[in-house]
Amino acid sequence: MGEQAKAIGVLTSGGDAPGMNAAVRAVTRAAIRKGFRVIGIQRGYNGLLNGECKELKPRNVSDIIQRGGTILYTARCKEFMQPEYVQKAADKCHELGIEGLVVIGGDGSFRGAADLSRIGGIKCIGIPGTIDNDIQCTNYTIGYDTAMNTALEMIDKLRDTSQSHDRCSVVEVMGRHAGWIAVNVAMASGAIACCTPETPYDINYIAEKIRKAHETQKEHFIVVVAEGVDSSEKITEDIKKLTGIDTRLTVLGHVQRGGSPTVRDRVAASQMGYRAVELLCDGQTNRVVGLKHGKIIDVDIQEALTMKKPFDTELLRMCDELAY
Ligand code: ADP
Repeated sequence: MGEQAKAIGVLTSGGDAPGMNAAVRAVTRAAIRKGFRVIGIQRGYNGLLNGECKELKPRNVSDIIQRGGTILYTARCKEFMQPEYVQKAADKCHELGIEGLVVIGGDGSFRGAADLSRIGGIKCIGIPGTIDNDIQCTNYTIGYDTAMNTALEMIDKLRDTSQSHDRCSVVEVMGRHAGWIAVNVAMASGAIACCTPETPYDINYIAEKIRKAHETQKEHFIVVVAEGVDSSEKITEDIKKLTGIDTRLTVLGHVQRGGSPTVRDRVAASQMGYRAVELLCDGQTNRVVGLKHGKIIDVDIQEALTMKKPFDTELLRMCDELAY
């Protein structure tokens, strides 16, 4: 890109995640420092198609590093699946002088970025922003740590009340396709069992484990279930039926998406935003930034979308062995 680049665009797309603002700040500040103008595009690819955008100056991103949500708003944009709309978005970028675009979102958003790069010739860099940690090319995604800590705080509160009543609490946490939040908060909360979409579970084994622990005076039970597991209601009913213990379901839901980002999310978002701008300055396109073994890396978007991320079944096994 070098001297020809007039502006860098930044948008947030798909599901929101705490720490997206820290990434927007980092992209903005790093790009301005390198002599670019920065255009903040609102509501993901919709905003790009509709021209919903405004120039971001250093002070526009002050006081946002600690805020959850995204000041750019986020949305899903069905039209972006069609090449003619991708071309329209590229035309809009040219009109605005945007030669490089940073897309903060999940793998759907990266597919859109890859199309914009391939069809429209816009240099695109993806930053993984999703609480689910389900992006294959990176060990870590922005928002994941905050979401886990929020879920854990809620479970700790549930544990107090569940203990007072000799109850079993089934807690549904987010993760439609991924059990990363579930297995980590299960371990961190000392849950008696954890059900994830990646691994089969045996309800009779879980019920027997609870029954045996109850006989040895264990007073409260937490069962963590990821959203993507078939019916947390059924798991709750089955535990109640098989153990005779008062069992209640709590669905934590969207609360896990909000809140002030943790240190880890703010730092990762800042590092990734900084690297995204460096890549655009180097004239690179179609890359996703990630974190591997504590180091910031970048990989080809197509490659990132086809990689497999093996689930941490060892953590699940350990969690199971430690809770009885
Ligand atoms: P996430 O980025 O969190 O995975 P989505 O899967 O909803 O969220 O994708 C966000 C947006 O990215 C979609 O609304 C759409 O605009 C764009 N997108 C998703 N999949 C594709 C695709 N296959 N081709 C082009 N754009 C896509």
